[in-house]
Amino acid sequence: MEPIQLPYESAVLHPTISEQTINYHFGKHYHTYVANLNKLIAGTPFEKESLINIVKKSEGAIFNNASQAWNHEFYFNQFKPPFLPAPVKELAKAIDKQWGSFDNFKKEFSDAAVSIFGSGWAWLAKDKDNNLSILKESNAGTPLTKGLIPILTFDVWEHAYYLDYQNRRADHVAALWYILDWNILEARFTAKGE
Ligand code: MN
Repeated sequence: MEPIQLPYESAVLHPTISEQTINYHFGKHYHTYVANLNKLIAGTPFEKESLINIVKKSEGAIFNNASQAWNHEFYFNQFKPPFLPAPVKELAKAIDKQWGSFDNFKKEFSDAAVSIFGSGWAWLAKDKDNNLSILKESNAGTPLTKGLIPILTFDVWEHAYYLDYQNRRADHVAALWYILDWNILEARFTAKGE
């Protein structure tokens, strides 16, 4: 499969995510997952499957590379100017219903992201009835394998922030809230079906 194009200029997320980090994280790490996946699935039935289906059906090295490719596409696609400070419409209501306020949700999600031991991903996901939950996943973990629908993710692998924040993961997580496009998250929340 083909890697996605970044949907914004590589410098617009600076200083939360510098152009240099984009060049490594998107340009090298993400592209390597796609290239590795293409090598692994060549000549297998997965060659004709969509990326999301490979994530749901595979295990081992194919799962690791497919899930990392999918997670990174989902991650990079959620940032875009104009940056909105808070959720809108239906997702805003659902967050208030589950956590009482956006501030409470932000704190719980940030705590989850900061406390993941080692490499992984913090997720906001929903079930079929639109109930929201926060998940902490290690390595290539994803809500997709738990029957849940992802809405938002923060990558807490060191390659996501080390050039800009070194060991200060909490500072990086706090800054990520200011570069989200909540219209994209709203569209993920209200999308019908798979
Ligand atoms: Mn990453």
